[in-house]
Amino acid sequence: SNKGEETLRAPICCVMGHVDTGKTKLLDCIRGTNVQEGEAGGITQQIGATYFPVENIRERTKELKADAKLNVPGLLVIDTPGHESFTNLRSHGSGLCDIAILVVNIMHGLEPQTIESLNLLRMRNTVFIVALNKIDRLYGWKAQPNKPVRKSLNQQSKDVQNEFDRRLIEVITQFKEQGLNTELYYKNKNMRETFSIVPTSAISGEGIPDLLLLLVQWSQKTMVEKLTFRNECTVLEVKVTKGHGTTIDVVLVNGMLHEGDQIDPIVTTIRALLTPHPMKELRVKGTYLHHKEIKAAQGIKITGKGLEHAIAGTGLYVVRRDDDLEEVKECAMQDMKSVTSWIDKSGEGVYVQASCLECIFNKKDPIILGVDVLEGILKIGTPICVPQKDFADIGRIASIRFNEKAVDHAKKGQKVALKIVGTNPEEQQRMYGRHFDNDDQLVSHIT
Ligand code: GDP
Ligand code: MG
Repeated sequence: SNKGEETLRAPICCVMGHVDTGKTKLLDCIRGTNVQEGEAGGITQQIGATYFPVENIRERTKELKADAKLNVPGLLVIDTPGHESFTNLRSHGSGLCDIAILVVNIMHGLEPQTIESLNLLRMRNTVFIVALNKIDRLYGWKAQPNKPVRKSLNQQSKDVQNEFDRRLIEVITQFKEQGLNTELYYKNKNMRETFSIVPTSAISGEGIPDLLLLLVQWSQKTMVEKLTFRNECTVLEVKVTKGHGTTIDVVLVNGMLHEGDQIDPIVTTIRALLTPHPMKELRVKGTYLHHKEIKAAQGIKITGKGLEHAIAGTGLYVVRRDDDLEEVKECAMQDMKSVTSWIDKSGEGVYVQASCLECIFNKKDPIILGVDVLEGILKIGTPICVPQKDFADIGRIASIRFNEKAVDHAKKGQKVALKIVGTNPEEQQRMYGRHFDNDDQLVSHIT
């Protein structure tokens, strides 16, 4: 039936795996963009959310002649710099993602972060598809741009096919050692017990049609319950967007948002609902589309009063006319408490709030953390830690940077965002931080 079409929301898909396996490049390939090359050192620095409308997926998969109906409105794909952010992205206590892509480099097999990602996915009971990427790196590979992978494999020489089989079997064996059954997706007879492997190349686009189709078909087949509309929203990032004041980037996990909706815990009204154009990343600057209402799942920028008080990583609650306001507030406060209870205010020091869930890592500065100063004075040498249960010490402040505008704000007694460079490089992966736009002029070091 066609029933699903209006009632199912878009599934949310996270891309995970070891660094350099091609997570960002895969998304670039699907979008036809080039985020990866624009990244500092090619490392993903913050979470990106991209919406793929179903028409696009239909177009990209037509060569597979899949007759199955696509009855989700699209797919929201979230690219993450590391698994910390995946752990932190929660929505109402459960994982944000409905389905995940675990990217493995065919030339390297399973790597440490592959196994960590795998364990996280298992802990969360998140279903996933393995993208066995970089097949074009096999010696003698003849690229068949954007072809379904079976067609492409059939075009390869016997030697290349043998090499592919050998590496595939090795990866399947490595997964087996982790207690996991895996199989090439088109040979997989039991998707509930055996995980599917889709060979891909993010460079030539081979296998991308297969990956997209499998993602959509698998989620709509198994998650009707999960994909049915309710209201759920998670804050990704709090930041100032030119011309819009303080905004929050959120992932609308389920349900709908309307202009004018009242949202908690900040108790404010949505002034505007903005999204990037389809197939563009939420974090890439550009023009925004205005919406009166938006259906899940989507990455959205929200403007409204008081949003600077939102805490990244918490849920955003929508108050509807027929809702019990007190009940909604209670839920929202619980969420805030579970985050703020990690902040230890007993010692000496300053308390700061990072406005995003990511660390920013660049090779020169071990740690950069963008923060709002909540209390106290920041000084070089001040020990810093983050309000997260397991991670504590990120060293001492090595330098503090701010831009011209921040000085003006500070003079007026307003909160300012600073970049803080710490001294404990091992913790960089585990940090919270904030994305600074490239045109933030770093004008000064406090010494
Ligand atoms: P991430 O750290 O997992 O996000 O990896 P990136 O997307 O940044 O890719 C790491 C490097 O591998 C980049 O230089 C990419 O151009 C390259 N790369 C990614 N996918 C492929 C692929 O399928 N084939 C080849 N040959 N190179 C790839
Ligand atoms: Mg990346």
